[in-house]
Amino acid sequence: MHGSACVRQARKVETEGKVKESSASFLSLDLNLNLVRFETMAESAQLYYSGGRYLRDQFPYRVFKIAVDAGFTCPNRDGAAGRGGCVFCNNASFSSNSRQARTSVASQIEDGIRFYRERLAGHKFIVYFQAYTNTYGSLEQLRRVYDQAMDHPDVVGLAIGTRPDCVPDPVLDLLKEYAGRTHLWLELGLQSSHDVTLRRLNRRHTYAQFLDAVRRAQQRALRVCAHAILGLPGETRDMMLVTADRLAQLAVEGLKLHHLYVTTGTELERSYRRSAIRVLRLREYIGLVCDFLERIPSSVVVQRVTGEVAEPYVVAPHWGVTKLQVIHSINEEFRRRGTRQGCRVKQVEAEAQAQVKEVMERS
Ligand code: SF4
Repeated sequence: MHGSACVRQARKVETEGKVKESSASFLSLDLNLNLVRFETMAESAQLYYSGGRYLRDQFPYRVFKIAVDAGFTCPNRDGAAGRGGCVFCNNASFSSNSRQARTSVASQIEDGIRFYRERLAGHKFIVYFQAYTNTYGSLEQLRRVYDQAMDHPDVVGLAIGTRPDCVPDPVLDLLKEYAGRTHLWLELGLQSSHDVTLRRLNRRHTYAQFLDAVRRAQQRALRVCAHAILGLPGETRDMMLVTADRLAQLAVEGLKLHHLYVTTGTELERSYRRSAIRVLRLREYIGLVCDFLERIPSSVVVQRVTGEVAEPYVVAPHWGVTKLQVIHSINEEFRRRGTRQGCRVKQVEAEAQAQVKEVMERS
């Protein structure tokens, strides 16, 4: 065990900020302020490499994330890959009249910066293109929206959220160009490494497409952050841990996790209401996050360990705890086990090698 080293290393909570509640944004501004306050209290408490700690390692000043909605759509909604979207994707929050008022990316950034400046000492910002599929457009369109962020003197990075089937080589080349000028993350939604689950979710992409996207991004030295959901319909604990092991082997630099939540107006809600699916209890989720992170190398930045659904949209679960309490519980569970992020990586590798050896000896 390397508990004390880990405590020294992983001592900040996530400070990822969102300017507005966009279609896929589940953090409130108040929550983010609380996170910042909590950071000082929990300075030495974290047993995983949090996004906040990473930003402090990278920059000599405080950096916050500002989430923006650049007005993109998604190929799993417009018919290019599918219609209806992923079963967990909230139709109401994604519909045109419920999306936040379509202000320009530049004005959303100004709003976000003003928010932080009024409440906290001024710092720098990473603009997170979060809503929908932020590489789904012509190169000119992409350049136009990314440049609105780049043009702001206090923006020091971009985080581009997208699907694994929406990063053709010309787009990755474009991102590489931006990565040469700023701190850039490519955020790829995977959710599960099991095609059976991806089909069940109506994701309309495969794990092979994710692998291909990661490989081509890594060829261009792009930082990749993978998104995964725990508690997906039909997934066992073992299946979730296989996803962890696969991500560990892929050497992605970042990871975002959250539990499955059911939101209004989704296919998932219909399944939930007819008791075809269940959601995780808080204790289950805490245990699974720790199981998962124990298998993820300690160098991987864990940029999110839980999500929150805006109250009007939430169907289940209702855990009745704040995000901070979830984070606290995860660290408490690590402490109880005497483990931390990455502590099982070598053991998993050794087991995999032993299995290969056994198979070869038998054949
Ligand atoms: S890929 Fe993203 S935006 Fe598109 S339907 Fe799925 S969750 Fe929604």
